[in-house]
Amino acid sequence: MPEPLRLQGISASAGYAEGPLFNLDRGPARYTGKATAGEEKAALEAALASATDRLATLIETADEEAAGILEFQLAMLEDEALTGPAFAAIPSGMPADMAWRQALDAEIAGYETSDQDYFRARAADISDIRDRVLRALTEEQEYAAPAGAILYGEDIAPTRFLETDWSAGGGIALRAGSTASHVAMLARSRGVPMVVGLGSSPANPDGLALLDAEHGGIVLAPSKAEIETFRRSSSSFAARRDKAEAYLARPAVTKAGTTVRVQVNIADPSEVDGIDIATCDGVGLMRTEFLFGRAPPDEETQYRAYRKVLEWAGDKPVTIRTVDAGGDKPVPGFTVEESNPFLGLRGIRLSLARPDVFRVQVRALLRAAVHGNLKVMFPMIAVTEEYLRAATLFAEEQGGLIARGVAQKMPPLGIMVEVPSVAIAPEAFADVAFFSIGSNDLTQYVMAAARDNAAVAHLNSVRHPAVLRLVAEVTAFGLRAKIPVSLCGDAGGDPASIPALLEAGLRDLSVAPAQLAMAKAAISDVSV
Ligand code: PEP
Ligand code: MG
Repeated sequence: MPEPLRLQGISASAGYAEGPLFNLDRGPARYTGKATAGEEKAALEAALASATDRLATLIETADEEAAGILEFQLAMLEDEALTGPAFAAIPSGMPADMAWRQALDAEIAGYETSDQDYFRARAADISDIRDRVLRALTEEQEYAAPAGAILYGEDIAPTRFLETDWSAGGGIALRAGSTASHVAMLARSRGVPMVVGLGSSPANPDGLALLDAEHGGIVLAPSKAEIETFRRSSSSFAARRDKAEAYLARPAVTKAGTTVRVQVNIADPSEVDGIDIATCDGVGLMRTEFLFGRAPPDEETQYRAYRKVLEWAGDKPVTIRTVDAGGDKPVPGFTVEESNPFLGLRGIRLSLARPDVFRVQVRALLRAAVHGNLKVMFPMIAVTEEYLRAATLFAEEQGGLIARGVAQKMPPLGIMVEVPSVAIAPEAFADVAFFSIGSNDLTQYVMAAARDNAAVAHLNSVRHPAVLRLVAEVTAFGLRAKIPVSLCGDAGGDPASIPALLEAGLRDLSVAPAQLAMAKAAISDVSV
């Protein structure tokens, strides 16, 4: 009997799974070379066409979120910058599989060595494309994971996720991976447990494993006692989740009768299609960097996206954050290469450095404001000058729209409290319309522990007294100065952190839609 092995990573999607391990790292079958370069070229063309067809078929049955991811892959597959180097290598005598692998591996290496989480996360998409075409070359059938298995490996392809039947349970455990990957987003919205960042764990373990994606761990070859403890935690999680569903439709109230506002965090405007507005108090954070995707979007695209969310929310508030590019969210052509992106030109710093890009977003927001209850906030504010300069840009663009006779409205302008300088001395911001505490960044900056680094995840806790003291002081200042304070970091949706946040004085949280029910249930258990 192998010894039980307990590994720690980062939770990318909460939940529990017990099942056999399924090795994700098995490579494609061997390719039989062709006689001439012409035949090799034809074989690669046919494989590309077959991979494209397969993706197109998957898109037909995919929901909007999955289709977006697959369309990204399709665009890559049709991009000659990606396929060109492979075709160029064939005339010199290289077989199609080697030419394709070499070209794609070079591309993947570029993404993997990026110091930015967003780009590293896209490496999984390119590996997916590489293997899909290699399998088409060898005409290998897709090998499916058994029902209820824990898919284990270096990383996982988005199409692998979409082709797996999750109805019988199962989960994902990755040595690398990222909480920002496409698969992580899909796993969260479908409730598939997932852990990333397990590090240098065994390459090919097999047998039964226990995945605890509530706390980010996995046990390989578990003992009988470990299985029993695991099952108890897993049933307690399932019971909490079931019980939580009943809270979804009701307003959030503590045991002592205190009402807590619970809003949702969204990124892609299509996310609101899956949320009943009656179950939340509005949108506490709409992240806009994802709209920026591979390049800054034009005014019309932004205006339509903001308007869609505002119309969905009706009278309820929608807080849209101006672009927080940089850090772990790079935008090609906008963000800059830096040795320490979390401490660099990100958020409002970048927007103010690039008014050409920022003014487009400001105009789109001013125009969208007439369609609902819009509030706008600025990310990564460190000093008052940044807020004042951003507010001036809003006033100038409003003047321009008025002069052109375009419908517009000035929304209340607030700031994120996520840089320690603001949390420590909030009195410098007595003129802003509202504060929204970004506990993800506030915690990483207070604890000097990067939010995307599994090795320091134990330090990255909002419940550290230093972080909680700042949250409490900002909340108390807000009460004195009559500035509304909410919190929109992930801690707001974490049942284990909610009691401490309410005790710190917060009465307004904004959480990931998947956490809405659990957050409301956790609030009902608190006595404040
Ligand atoms: C935060 O920092 O807590 C936050 C909500 O912003 P983001 O996670 O987008 O940096
Ligand atoms: Mg932040």
